[in-house]
Amino acid sequence: MDTIKERLEALWGELGDSVRLVAVSKFHPVDKLREAYDAGQRIFGENRVQELDEKVPLLPKDIEWHFIGTLQRNKVKYIVPYVDTIQSIDRAEILHEVERQAEKKGGRRDRKIKLLLQVHISNEETKHGFSEDELTAFLGSLDLSSLKSTEIVGLMGMAEMTDDETVIDGQFAHLKSLFDRVKNDFFPADDRFKELSMGMSGDYEIALRHGATLVRIGTRIFGPREY
Ligand SMILES: *Cc1c(COP(=O)(O)O)cnc(C)c1O
Repeated sequence: MDTIKERLEALWGELGDSVRLVAVSKFHPVDKLREAYDAGQRIFGENRVQELDEKVPLLPKDIEWHFIGTLQRNKVKYIVPYVDTIQSIDRAEILHEVERQAEKKGGRRDRKIKLLLQVHISNEETKHGFSEDELTAFLGSLDLSSLKSTEIVGLMGMAEMTDDETVIDGQFAHLKSLFDRVKNDFFPADDRFKELSMGMSGDYEIALRHGATLVRIGTRIFGPREY
């Protein structure tokens, strides 16, 4: 079987220079993350606060941590000190709490916490995120200049779990067109708003065709998760 290093190298080759790989390491032990790190991977994604809390101190400081899971308001304060990006902002309350905590802790004065707004693009009830209408209403009411310690850098979405590629294709195409519209309507002169996070182990090739700038891949790098 091929190694983590070989799988990473194959993926980097496929992604090229314009797409960044988030290695989704949830449920995998620290030694596997270390192996990926030693191979050169620097961006890791986790979806549970406690697990992230445990792993961060055990790994090198130059890792860029992305939070990709559903956040409870009262847990936000734990991840604010070390997270680079939160990809899963799925309601106004969470965005405001991240901003509040980042301000309170003095933020990371050197840089703001980057935020992606998660959009619900599949037909599955279980997936989180703003609906399209909620997203535009929220952005319409938000005073972007009020964000001092955070910055909105793009959108994130998950396609449906299905073998039907045309369904996935349609959902990623839809997210891309929503991204273009949101960029045009709310961030026209803001160069920071440029990230479109879509694509996982089973569907990243489709996401790449639709302009993903970040892909979140776990299983294909680390193998199956043990829950
Ligand atoms: C687990 C997870 C992934 C990675 O899934 P794989 O199928 O293992 O690549 C990507 N995005 C989110 C939000 C996840 O929770």
